[in-house]
Amino acid sequence: QAKHKGKSAYAHFAPEMTEVSHERLQMESLMRRALEQKEFELYYQPIVRTESGQLCSAEALLRWNNPGMGMVMPDRFIPLAEETGLITPIGEWVLQEACLAAMRWKASTGTDIGISVNVSPRQFRDPGFVDTVMNALDASGLPPQQLELEITERLILDNTIETADILRQLDQSGIRLSVDDFGTGYSALSYLKSYPFDTLKIDKSFVQDVMKEREDASLVKAIINMAHSLGLRVIAEGVEEEAQTHFLQHEGCDYSQGYFYSRPLPENEFQQWLKTNHRAL
Ligand code: C2E
Ligand code: MG
Ligand code: MG
Ligand code: MG
Repeated sequence: QAKHKGKSAYAHFAPEMTEVSHERLQMESLMRRALEQKEFELYYQPIVRTESGQLCSAEALLRWNNPGMGMVMPDRFIPLAEETGLITPIGEWVLQEACLAAMRWKASTGTDIGISVNVSPRQFRDPGFVDTVMNALDASGLPPQQLELEITERLILDNTIETADILRQLDQSGIRLSVDDFGTGYSALSYLKSYPFDTLKIDKSFVQDVMKEREDASLVKAIINMAHSLGLRVIAEGVEEEAQTHFLQHEGCDYSQGYFYSRPLPENEFQQWLKTNHRAL
């Protein structure tokens, strides 16, 4: 009797919570198997020189093809991968695969194309992180100058000695470092002068409205000028319209990325894109 009561009370008070945690558990166990089942795939989005539209590099963006769920986008599984720590082995695979891909493109086009890889905080703080990066470079033969690691302001916020030390080690090995989603992290700007970053990626939320909102236009201009006076390069993210490209050219934004140029593409389509774009170089 009491048992029955307890159960129904539970069911009455927390149905959503149990559903959510059930879904999470299921996602987690599927994600645990996803690496060995080879369900992860990298898509590549071109990053071009704003002035010429010429390809310079590509950002690797993770996709999860699960037989039951279809294609799962990173916003739906990266947070859980972070929480469970699974991001460490997944991120290691991403690094290896991205470096190998850049070498394949070199072989097929004869051009050095940079590759940008997203790094999440938990992965960055793993004690083996620097070794993982170095191993990916060694195993693929990719020169460190062609690898860029994208780090969010969120990570820099907890500004510890370890963070500074890891960034310094990566920088000294020749790898490039960028601040992803710049402007969304509420962090103090002082880190820009004390950490060895090469690039700021202006968050797409600012870029999207540059033609509509004066404030966004002013912010984007100010970020470009500030970055340049600190010796940093700038990438505008989320460029979708031609008018935005004219604005960014006028303001001297070095690089651009967005649907206007190309969506993230599976590797075979990216290779096709490369061939046609390469001819125009
Ligand atoms: P992010 O690093 O800021 O990547 C840019 C996101 O903006 C991508 O979403 C991309 O598809 C999207 N995007 C690109 N151009 C446009 C545009 O013109 N308009 C709009 N509206 N969106 C555009 P995606 O692929 O869904 O990735 C979302 C986030 O997931 C990434 O944001 C990144 O933080 C994270 N992520 C992706 N791959 C990885 C990975 O391998 N490791 C880690 N740790 N995080 C990853
Ligand atoms: Mg990124
Ligand atoms: Mg550097
Ligand atoms: Mg971003």
